[in-house]
Amino acid sequence: MIANKYQYFATRQEVEKHKKYIQEGATHLTNTKKQVEYEYYVCDFCKSEIRIKKKHYEQSGGIVVIPAIVTKKKEIKLALCNGCLNKVLAEFDEKGWCSEYSWTY
Ligand SMILES: [Zn+2]
Repeated sequence: MIANKYQYFATRQEVEKHKKYIQEGATHLTNTKKQVEYEYYVCDFCKSEIRIKKKHYEQSGGIVVIPAIVTKKKEIKLALCNGCLNKVLAEFDEKGWCSEYSWTY
């Protein structure tokens, strides 16, 4: 699944960080500044939100760098939640790729 989309992952620059804004209720004021509630990544596998927290160990996932030695091409960065990490690594293992990877935030 990830391998099928390798081209896409290999060519994107950085994993996109999304912003969740605080809803300003039903007031339709034009000058209200949007306040960011939190930032998040979207899991590349299941599309769930991975909130970015100050304490990284509290996050439900993060950016995983799959090194070139694993992809046999170019390193790719994936946003993965904890639940999907093992599935993705298993996919790499099926292809005879080692499960060498590192987390980055
Ligand atoms: Zn996921």
